[in-house]
Amino acid sequence: MKHLTIRDVRVILTAPEGIRLVVVKVETSEPGLYGLGCATFTQRPLAVATAVETYIKPFVVGRDPQDIEDIWQACYLSSYWRNGPVLHNALSGVDMALWDIKGKLAGMPLYQLFGGRARNAAALYAHATGRDAVEVTEQAKALIEQGFRHIRCQVATPGYATYGTYSSTHTNRPQPLGVGQGAWEPGPYSRIVPRLFEHLRAMLGEEIELLHDIHERVPPIDAVRLACDLEPYRLFFLEDPFAPEDADWFRVLRTRSSIPLAMGELFVSQQEYVPLVRERLIDFMRVHLSAIGGLTPARKLAALCEFFGVRTAWHGPGDVSPVGHAANLHLDIAVPNFGIQECYQFSEISRAVFPGTPEIRDGALWPNDSPGLGVDIDEALAARFPYPDDPLNGSWPELRRLDGAVTRP
Ligand code: MG
Repeated sequence: MKHLTIRDVRVILTAPEGIRLVVVKVETSEPGLYGLGCATFTQRPLAVATAVETYIKPFVVGRDPQDIEDIWQACYLSSYWRNGPVLHNALSGVDMALWDIKGKLAGMPLYQLFGGRARNAAALYAHATGRDAVEVTEQAKALIEQGFRHIRCQVATPGYATYGTYSSTHTNRPQPLGVGQGAWEPGPYSRIVPRLFEHLRAMLGEEIELLHDIHERVPPIDAVRLACDLEPYRLFFLEDPFAPEDADWFRVLRTRSSIPLAMGELFVSQQEYVPLVRERLIDFMRVHLSAIGGLTPARKLAALCEFFGVRTAWHGPGDVSPVGHAANLHLDIAVPNFGIQECYQFSEISRAVFPGTPEIRDGALWPNDSPGLGVDIDEALAARFPYPDDPLNGSWPELRRLDGAVTRP
């Protein structure tokens, strides 16, 4: 093959399920040879698209797409001020696409390039939710019937907004200012969650693995107390007890509880995740791969975690595209310290837009053996699902306390 170069970088914006996805396509000088990367930052997708088109595309066109590490480092430094979710997602779009191209050049699925299979499939955790403990239990039972062995459980707090339940997830609508229904208060939530898990253990037994996400919503000392209150129910992990700004509280929590801790979906930079790993303050690393810059930094982070007994649990909701889920999965298959993978069940429409989307079977995610990431995009079909109209273009909905004060999401 004559000298291979990057010919074009294109941003594809699509929302097959109404969730704003950003996918980057890197085309090469070799006809038909291209790669796809996930750059989905669903609350600021248009800023990412601008960063790719205005800054990254002119920076990488003409370079050899095989030089992944060099392109990542040069791109990372080219803004002088580094880090941040917009720039990292833009960088991830190109980075994952270059890995996809490398896999296609090698004729291997990416997990082979990463060292080969450490396992056959990635165990998934699914989401159960409901208005009360009975409803959550029913959903959990239905998921167990489908083959899931790990279930994250969230319950509504009557009269209040609660993360991960029907009333508060991705409404994309600002909540009304002031008091009343839909406000968030940490007290009622902190009291209801231990009762939920008491009920779940009584109804589901000891064998099923249960998880919960606090979503950084309570004051730090309340999170410490909640972790202690949940200990009898033997959670697989408790997620985001603190906001990234309060990460020093992990030292306090570690002295009080042996509950396994997951953290990191909001992390962007090394300065956030390295100290927690180095001090063995968490057990599961939850980063959103594209928010830290793609597969290149994620491979290094997984290796760092391995040496400190921290397992991977990459962020994998509906606001990670099927391309991004495939990137998660190739690492899941290849790294020895895989912990769990978050499950998102893509619709038939999404699977048609993204042929090759990994399959869910027996509570696990299975890779296909196509070279590279193994996921393609039908651009004509993707174009039929433009972003939904929204005055705030997908911003996270405001959350407010009973007194009207805005609070963490
Ligand atoms: Mg979470």
